[in-house]
Amino acid sequence: MKTLTLMLAALLAASPVLALDGKWTPAQVLEIDPGWLQDQGLELTPKQLWDAKRGTGLLTGAVKIGGCSGAFVSSAGLIVTNHHCLFPLIQEHSTPDRDLISDGFLARKRGEELAGSTLRVEIPRRFTDVSGEVLKTIPTGATPEQRMAAIEAQQKSLIQQCEQQPDTLCTVAVFDEGVSYTLIESMELRDVRLVYAPPRAIGEYGGEIDNWMWPRHTGDFAIARAYVGKDDKPADHGQDNKPYRPEFIFPISRDGVVAGDFVMLLGYPGVTYRSLLAEEMRERRERFFVRREELFGEWIEVLQQASEGDPAGVIAVAANVKSILNRHKNAQGQIAGLDRGNIVQKQLDADNAVAAWVRKHPQHTAALDARAGLRALLAEREQSWERDFLLNLIPMGVESVAGGIPPLPKTLYFGATLAHNAIEQTLDDAARAEGFSSSDQPKLRERLRREQQNYHAAADQQLLAALVRRALALPKEQRIASVDRHFGKLDQTAIEARIAELYGQTALLDAKVREQMLTENIDSLRARGDALLDFAIDWNQDLRALREREHQWASRSAIHRPIWRRAVRAQAGQPIAPDANGSLRISFAHIKGYVPRDGVRYTPFTTLSGALEKHTGIDPFDLPAAVRTASRTPGKRWLQADLNDLPINFLADGDTSGGNSGSPVVNAMGELVGINFDRVWENVAGDFGFNPALSRNISVDIRYLLWLLDRVEHADELLQELGVEREL
Ligand code: ASP
Repeated sequence: MKTLTLMLAALLAASPVLALDGKWTPAQVLEIDPGWLQDQGLELTPKQLWDAKRGTGLLTGAVKIGGCSGAFVSSAGLIVTNHHCLFPLIQEHSTPDRDLISDGFLARKRGEELAGSTLRVEIPRRFTDVSGEVLKTIPTGATPEQRMAAIEAQQKSLIQQCEQQPDTLCTVAVFDEGVSYTLIESMELRDVRLVYAPPRAIGEYGGEIDNWMWPRHTGDFAIARAYVGKDDKPADHGQDNKPYRPEFIFPISRDGVVAGDFVMLLGYPGVTYRSLLAEEMRERRERFFVRREELFGEWIEVLQQASEGDPAGVIAVAANVKSILNRHKNAQGQIAGLDRGNIVQKQLDADNAVAAWVRKHPQHTAALDARAGLRALLAEREQSWERDFLLNLIPMGVESVAGGIPPLPKTLYFGATLAHNAIEQTLDDAARAEGFSSSDQPKLRERLRREQQNYHAAADQQLLAALVRRALALPKEQRIASVDRHFGKLDQTAIEARIAELYGQTALLDAKVREQMLTENIDSLRARGDALLDFAIDWNQDLRALREREHQWASRSAIHRPIWRRAVRAQAGQPIAPDANGSLRISFAHIKGYVPRDGVRYTPFTTLSGALEKHTGIDPFDLPAAVRTASRTPGKRWLQADLNDLPINFLADGDTSGGNSGSPVVNAMGELVGINFDRVWENVAGDFGFNPALSRNISVDIRYLLWLLDRVEHADELLQELGVEREL
């Protein structure tokens, strides 16, 4: 009996039993046992998903769009994604007289489609593991800083070499701070147009009340089209451009899905925290999300109150407010989930188990020092945590603030970015910070121009006053020098008066002058005698000093983390998907409900009847009349037989995160059955760990989109292009 048990154990160790959790990289798909995938329900071969030799496959039909994911669904460049992902594009074209946010939009002809000025689509073309190439350049005996410098130089050189290929955008994705490095080649399309967006009352049905919640009835979808130049190459927006012809598309499923079905989610999750130590998770719980919750709450109030009763103002702040509301509730959900799941304590137990294992496996002994090193680093970072958090609220140029929030206040963002750019321009092109090279300048210019469309004077001034107030309340050893210098001697009323004065005389809000400033050095910027710009230049200096310290921290972390993670992997004895880093991933899942709390069971589908039941006529539960009318004779074509109703949203146990918004949800054959847009409340803290009982993502059923296009919009041509016949 004993021998049999031992044999079984050996067998299990040889072919590890996988859980469904994991945001797998394309390369990892091929490491997963194909038999296991088949057992889960996959009807394609793993090679159809990902062909390592060609460096491509169905996975690359999933694209990056507007900080989200999306899917090619027609051979003429149609992309399906979420309404909330295209919201900035919808806002860009909205005015009080033509309010596309409220009314929605449908281009009945190609000529009517609406171009986005900053929206881009990235189509992945090839993934190459370059870990060896990156690591071989590290000189022996290098200090952490020298080591990091060598890694960065090699990454830049790989990117430069790669970008010699025409129309190729290259990045090196770093996994778990240096366990491995992958060179990703993509094509970036710059002419992306809005084809269809439902009215906000559909796309955001349930609003913030239902956000991150189940049951849900939201039509969070929208359609765009990508264009290329006449020569089939990426081009700026132009009349002569033609639709892009993708290599891979996801055909629309004819049959839809039912409970228990196997599905896959493909997309670009941004940031997760599963590889952190318990102490680092505690920092997220006790500091990061707590501060975000509090600060975003304040921002929302300012933006909403300042724009109230002013239709143009409401449109101007709409995209920013939406994004902050989403992050605000996310922060609350993270805190609730971390506490409820006792996640920090569980991680501590897991870390201790790894440490105990390491003590018995001497080849991993260095992991103990690595853990101590990471803990010491955290303690050091925590000493200036509050100051650094405030400084990092203002991103530079096209950067985004970690966790995706818009730059606010805009004037400080404009001024500090101009200062940053001026300093970077004094360096060799290759040495400049990402986003500031000469070839990046048009993008930067466009971004600053576009950002001004989100500007609201009164709100912006109040946000700056709030930021100054927070900075002046920092403890003595964490002061922000620029704020002290410009505002330190003023009391509250005087600060507000001073800010009003600064806004009254600044040229930062004049788009033409600001463009000119993009070409100026620091001396000329100073010579303008623009006091608000001067403050921003000084702020940028404080931020640059922080960036240097962060760089040192990252250099040390990049030594410790991979050593620790290797031990974690070795102890686990099975593949572990790396933390999200904005690169392409796939998750395998099934349509499934869950039990959120004792005595409550959630079923996996919601229906049109449920949406109607929620309708009160008051925002955010105000379904458009056209939908209510059409619901009386919904037809048969799009209904699900066992529900005898139109499916609206469904749950699956996919492993997703922010950035997976807009991810195609496909069936066993790779046909599109839904579009991912959210997670359930109990799974917001899934960023810290996968819990099979609660990890549920929320998707909009593709049949809801088709039903709307068919029975409400009568969008015959669009349906035809999607390969779907209308119901007669
Ligand atoms: N709705 C989410 C987001 O804001 C998607 C997710 O986090 O699952 O990105």
